[in-house]
Amino acid sequence: MGLFDFQMDLFGAPKADSEAARDSGISPNCSANGLVRFHYSPLLKKSIRCKGVFLFGHPEVVLPEYMKSADFAPARELAAEWAEHAVRRKTAKNKAITKDLVTRFWAVVDQVLVDRGEKPVESKGRIPPICPLGNYHNLSQVLAAINETYFDGTLSCRITWSNRVGGLSFHSVRKDPITGEDFHLISISRGYDAKNCPFYAVAGVVYHECLHIVVPVETRGGRRIVHGREFRQRERHYIYYDEWIKWHKEVLPSNIRAMRRGKPL
Ligand SMILES: [Zn+2]
Repeated sequence: MGLFDFQMDLFGAPKADSEAARDSGISPNCSANGLVRFHYSPLLKKSIRCKGVFLFGHPEVVLPEYMKSADFAPARELAAEWAEHAVRRKTAKNKAITKDLVTRFWAVVDQVLVDRGEKPVESKGRIPPICPLGNYHNLSQVLAAINETYFDGTLSCRITWSNRVGGLSFHSVRKDPITGEDFHLISISRGYDAKNCPFYAVAGVVYHECLHIVVPVETRGGRRIVHGREFRQRERHYIYYDEWIKWHKEVLPSNIRAMRRGKPL
């Protein structure tokens, strides 16, 4: 790009790409603070580029064409922050910041794609996207019902189908790639997303993982006890406890074996 072109960009009238973008006050052409300009390339898909523009002190970012829409605005903000660091001197601290920002950027991109029902950009995201919508069960609805019935709606957590084939259900604490804040994440084994899985069974495992958020881990003689007495007592409060345990023991293992052989459930 020549200097002339650049000045045209810099001093030309701002281009609004759609009515929606103009109404929401989000421009796809520059960062919220107005310092980093965005360009789009139909050639890029799984990468982004930054160009240092030393004359004016702020970099420009080239993004894949599909990131022009309003739902990518938070991702573009991370890309702008990334570019501001990427053009600086490569100190160890700065390298670590750049690496963290690029990881968070792809995590947000993958999340937008998954929320739209599209495929994430494979291999780029080291933070797997949160995907509560399955083929047979919508985990957001299951969680909402359990939260309302057993926790008075006070639980604050997110839920996803596990991204590992044949994986188990578990609870973890993750950092939000946009805000950097910690949140509880419940991951449910895909063995429960099956035609032969009744609602009471998937609700049972969601209730179990919810209990891990509210019942603290006990320590006895230096040993960590995750399913202690209080946990087991509260677990039995679930009205379909016996039915769920029966399904968990008798049906889930065969579902997981089928998944590992690549069979649809
Ligand atoms: Zn457990």
